[in-house]
Amino acid sequence: MVTRDHLRHEMAIRRLTVSRTEQLTPAIVRITLIGDALDDFSASGPTDHVKVFFPDPATQVLTVPELRADGIHRPTDGVILSRDYTPRQFRAAAFGAAELDIDFVLHAPDAAHGDPTDPAGGGPASAWAAQAKPGDEIAVAGPRGSRLAPQDASEAVLIADETALPAFTRWLELLPASTRITALLDVADEEVEPYLSEEQTRRASVEWLYRIDGPGQLAEAVRSLEFEPETYVWAAGEASTLVPIRRYLKNEVGLRPDQLDVQGYWRRGIVNLDHHAPIDPSDPD
Ligand SMILES: Cc1cc2nc3c(=O)[nH]c(=O)nc-3n(C[C@H](O)[C@H](O)[C@H](O)COP(=O)(O)OP(=O)(O)OC[C@H]3O[C@@H](n4cnc5c(N)ncnc54)[C@H](O)[C@@H]3O)c2cc1C
Repeated sequence: MVTRDHLRHEMAIRRLTVSRTEQLTPAIVRITLIGDALDDFSASGPTDHVKVFFPDPATQVLTVPELRADGIHRPTDGVILSRDYTPRQFRAAAFGAAELDIDFVLHAPDAAHGDPTDPAGGGPASAWAAQAKPGDEIAVAGPRGSRLAPQDASEAVLIADETALPAFTRWLELLPASTRITALLDVADEEVEPYLSEEQTRRASVEWLYRIDGPGQLAEAVRSLEFEPETYVWAAGEASTLVPIRRYLKNEVGLRPDQLDVQGYWRRGIVNLDHHAPIDPSDPD
């Protein structure tokens, strides 16, 4: 049995300010956020996520729900725009302001993986991140809880596309040194590779798969893996791509529920995917 402990955090909605931005790869930008509200921020699990609230692109007004003693209230005016993101790294205020990094994929529709019918060239979150500059304001809610990395898995297989690379690097940091890590990283092309440092690349046996080389490579790479009785598998990325992979791991390999976590982080053609809904409605968890 592979176990992941769970911690709950006090709910908080924090208004934060962009302190700096860093282009990590042509399509991934790191945005560092600061604000007094970060003082009690905590995110200790590899797959923790926050809800990020963005200004309405039409008015530039940031509308955020209000947290009161009796729960969360939506304001009567204003457009609430929010998306899920991974708190990539939090630095507590030991020697200055506390800082939170979030890494945003700047996506445009592309025939290989994006939505070619989407004329907007991405969504409001991606568009905001592409233009973000010091002084801009957003809000961050959560995380509500942390599912910690298992400490008892002999091996972990981690499968990620670009949107799941921030969580993937958290896995590298949070799994014990005794867990061997195999990673299948399904990305647009080789320009994404510098996202990982040399040290991170050394921590795992990493296979990069480029979508420009054609479809089906991820499924093929998964089928070539062998699994131990206590292997833990985490996969996150585009939901339609991961459904057949989840079916294979569950039904053909026979991984137990405690060994398998497959999360749709976005779905081609769907705005603001609800990742709490089953990734495969015909076979919910
Ligand atoms: C738990 C969790 C953690 C996440 N962590 C991160 C993270 O750390 N970094 C990150 O970048 N994303 C992360 N995501 C994914 C992110 O929430 C989605 O990509 C989100 O839809 C982006 O919002 P948007 O406003 O840009 O696009 P939306 O308005 O939601 O969608 C507009 C269009 O763009 C398409 N689309 C959405 N995302 C992509 C994409 N990546 N590539 C191509 N087309 C896309 C949609 O299918 C839709 O057609 C995470 C998601 C979850 C559930």
